[in-house]
Formats: sequence, structure tokens, C-alpha cells
Amino acid sequence: MISLDISTVLFLYQSSLLVGAAAFLLNRRQTGPTRGLGMVSAALGILGIGAALASLGEQARLPRHLWTLATLCSGLWGHALLAAGLACLSQGRPPRHWKLLWLWPAPFWLLAALTQFHLHNPSRAIAFHLNAAVCLALAAWVIWRGRRLEPLPSREPLALVLLATSLSFAAGAAVIRWVDAFVPWLALEFFVQILGNFSLVILVGGMTTDRAEAHLRRQACLDPLTGIGNRRWLADSVPATLKVGDTVLCLDLDHFKQINDLHGHAGGDLVLVAAANVLREGLRQGDCLARVGGEEFVLFLPELDERQALLLAERLRAAIETLAVPYRGQVVAVTASLGIARCGQAGQDWQELHHAADTALYAAKQAGRNRVQLAGAESRTT
Ligand code: GH3
Ligand code: MG
Ligand code: MG
Repeated sequence: MISLDISTVLFLYQSSLLVGAAAFLLNRRQTGPTRGLGMVSAALGILGIGAALASLGEQARLPRHLWTLATLCSGLWGHALLAAGLACLSQGRPPRHWKLLWLWPAPFWLLAALTQFHLHNPSRAIAFHLNAAVCLALAAWVIWRGRRLEPLPSREPLALVLLATSLSFAAGAAVIRWVDAFVPWLALEFFVQILGNFSLVILVGGMTTDRAEAHLRRQACLDPLTGIGNRRWLADSVPATLKVGDTVLCLDLDHFKQINDLHGHAGGDLVLVAAANVLREGLRQGDCLARVGGEEFVLFLPELDERQALLLAERLRAAIETLAVPYRGQVVAVTASLGIARCGQAGQDWQELHHAADTALYAAKQAGRNRVQLAGAESRTT
């Protein structure tokens, strides 16, 4: 077995904390104001300074009362702040009343004043270890729990690393309490903490990258004006092969160019947003709505019979016709033409059905606009 020299391990432990603090600061600058990174950086900085004070103290370079209390406080603050920072990183906001954690060492000061326990190395180390174990276990739980609302791939490994580090602190406390020759075990435990600190830096960095990627993916699929999906999102959302009854509805606002000409582009934009809202309101679970062009929308509506599809399209047409969008003291009205195509046999492909709905829409325009046209019944317009 390799033998670990405790002072080298403690030196590396301090260094890993200070390097971690610097890495989080850098990460914060690169990813913009990701909430929590500043707190995590400060926490590792405090822990690193505390560990440096402890080694200076052990070399008798500082008054004993001072360094023992200072290292105890930095341990209590540092791990509590680390847990609060990771919770903030996970949830996007700090835990409520987190500033009260600065008072966290107060009961220990009182106990130190009464019992002088801080001068007794094993007692001080046990307090440090148990506090670290509890704070890291809480942080692991918060990161793990957040995966339901925000399932990032880095969450689970980060929670596991925090849990493993918490368990190693708990084991360290037990060893100090019950094993006489605990120093080699402590060296091993701090070696695990060093690995934990490096993993923490890598996985928290991974979490900010995962989050930025998820944000970009969402942005790439959203229409920025109306907030509904765009053509790319629609292509990703429709099933590859269709079932009987799956319906595609193409909708195009009528004479929209005239609305822009009369009310300006900003007025036209308001009408687009109002029309998108009307369409969004009528959606069922599983329906898809996208803006696929300037004033063109596509809806994918799974498993409707022909009557339901026509009724729905007619309801949407009527809802748009009754829209009255207020703009600069005027009321802007708009109508829409709709084409519907319904899958008649299983396995038909999306492109085919979309093309049929688009052709029906063209027929609705030709027939005079503000109407619904079912594909395959171009002579019957409603
Ligand atoms: P039709 O009834 O035949 O569909 O006539 P139309 O005027 O609606 O169709 P056309 O294709 O001639 O004009 C569409 C207009 O939509 C032209 C374009 O300037 C406008 N447009 C495209 N994107 C936007 C947008 O994001 N905002 C606004 N305000 N207008 C847009
Ligand atoms: Mg149009
Ligand atoms: Mg158009």
C-alpha cells in the first residue's frame, strides 16, 4: 500500500481548495453571472485559508488560541457556504435566510469559551468533520433533487461525489474518535477530499456548460417573437410515421402585408403574437404548434376524426376573425385561411401530409381566404 505523508497531503489539500476557488472565479467570469458560483468560490477560498492557518499553527508560527478558533470557524463557514452556494447553483437562487449562516459558528464559540474544546485537536477535528459531512450531504441531496425540474447529465455524478466526500468526512470523524493511531487514516481521508475537490470543480463546470447548452438548444427551437416552437422544433417533435387520424393544419394570415403597410411592422408583430396566443390556447396535450414562416403556422394534432378536425379548424378561424388587436389608438383586425390534411392510412409520412395541408391552404386562399379547406375535398370549402 502507498504510504501518504500527512503534511504533504494537507499541503495538497490546501492547494486544491485554493485552486478550486480560483477555477470557480474564472468559470463565473466565462459563463456570465451564474448564480452560486461566487458563493462556491468564496467557500473554497475560506476553507483553503483555514487549512493554511492550520498548517502555520501546527508549525507553532501563530498563537494557539487564534489559529485553532480561526480554523474551526473557517471550516464551519466554508462548508456551510459551500452547501448554500451549491443549492443556489442548483435552484438559481440562494436558500432563504442563507445570510444567517455567518452566525453558524456562534454556538461553537460559546462552547469554546466555556470548555476550551478548540484547543483539543481531536475534539476540534471531530466538530470540523461532522459539520463538513452534514453540509456536503445536504448539498448532495439538493443537487440530486433538482434533477426532476432540470435534468442535467452532470447532476447525478456531482451528487454522488458530494455524497462520497460527505461519507469520507463522517468516516474521518469516527476514526479520530475511535482509532488511536488515526494519522495514516486521516492522510488517506484528506487524499479522498483532494480528489473530491478536483471532481467538484470539473462537475460544477460541467453543470454550467450543460445548462448553457440546454438554454441554447431551447433558444434554437423557439420563435423569439411569439414564444412558440419554430420549424426546427416541429421537425423534431412530429413522429416519423403517422397514425390514422393524425392531422396537419396549415394556417396563413390573410393580407398580412396590408396590415404591415397600414400599421407598420410593430403593429404586424402584435397581430402575430395575438394570433399565436389564440392558437396556443386551443392546444391539447400532445398537440404541436409552430410558426414556420412570417405569418404561417403549422399545427400537428394527433388522432382526430374528420369532424373533430374540421370543427377545431373552424373554431380557430373564427377565433382569429374575432381578434381585435389594439395598436396606437386603433383596432387591428385579421383573418386566416386554413388547410387541413388527415392521415387516412397508417405509415403515411409527415412530409406528404404537410404538403397536402399546404395545398389545401392554397386552395382556401384561391377560394377567397378566411376559410377552412380539407385536403382531398378542394371543391368543398367551408
Ligand atoms: P396572403 O393573404 O396571400 O397570405 O397575403 P399576405 O399579404 O399575407 O402574404 P405575403 O406573403 O404577400 O406577405 C406576408 C408578409 O408578412 C410580408 C412580410 O413583410 C410579413 N412578415 C414576415 N415576417 C414578419 C414578421 O416577423 N413581422 C411582421 N410584422 N411581418 C412579417
Ligand atoms: Mg398571408
Ligand atoms: Mg404566407
